[in-house]
Amino acid sequence: MLGAVELLPGLIRAAVVSSEGAVRQLVERPLDPQASTRQLEHVIADVARCFAFQRVRGIGIACPGLVDTGSGAIVELLDLPQLNGFPLTEVIARHGRAPTVIEHRARLQAMGDRWFGQGRGRRSFASVTTGETLGVGILYDGQVIAPPGGRSGAHMIVAAAGDACTCGGVGCWKAVATTPWLRRQARAANLSPDAGLADLVAAAATGDQRAESLLDRYADNLALGLINIQHLFAPGLFILHGEVRSARPDFHARIEQRLLAVTSWNAEAERPQVVVADVDEGVSALLGGAGLVLTRLG
Ligand SMILES: [Zn+2]
Repeated sequence: MLGAVELLPGLIRAAVVSSEGAVRQLVERPLDPQASTRQLEHVIADVARCFAFQRVRGIGIACPGLVDTGSGAIVELLDLPQLNGFPLTEVIARHGRAPTVIEHRARLQAMGDRWFGQGRGRRSFASVTTGETLGVGILYDGQVIAPPGGRSGAHMIVAAAGDACTCGGVGCWKAVATTPWLRRQARAANLSPDAGLADLVAAAATGDQRAESLLDRYADNLALGLINIQHLFAPGLFILHGEVRSARPDFHARIEQRLLAVTSWNAEAERPQVVVADVDEGVSALLGGAGLVLTRLG
């Protein structure tokens, strides 16, 4: 059995996962943003105790903020700044009584795909988070690329000008390829004010040209980040997670066509391919944590 912990806004979850990727036990506790560091530590310790009697091989933690994978401490967590510097790995290892490792959430998703999803048996591929947030985890030659100071790719610059991003920059991938961008564009095109991806897909299916053209632009913008990644690392396979899974196959095909149009491949490189994740999204970060245990702790 493998242990996995996931931090989400306002929530911590822990799961016992089989070596085949089946979630056997799941516990959840709220994390109050107003709580003190000491109170949060009590909650974290309480959740970690679910591993104490399970004989898990190890525990893998998926953390949304910046983490120091060497020391196992949280560097920066925007939702819970009182945990900045908190030795999360050490606390969970002590109460869970198992060796514990930590990684950024977007990168861990690739670990879940590597062991339990479409990345099985591959040496290289990219795992892409879509929807409200954007991020990419890259497996390259069997290893998740995780350099100190590296980020998830959301703020890679894909245009010299454009809307301001939440980071304060301009031209970020995130500013043009997430659900908030889609909603703003839907409003500007006089589509339903709160039209999300599902609404646009439904409208396009009835022949609404405005919805169809907005979806095409969204697919093209998503492709921008993937093109850069393909140029640099040639992972070949891109596994899409999150909201765009619910789009129609022609949406995913358009992203792939954009990739094929501006990248090259030959006998030495694989033809780029875009697929939709086949793992349960509700537990994909936890599967990533379990995969991290298999990768780092054997
Ligand atoms: Zn940005």
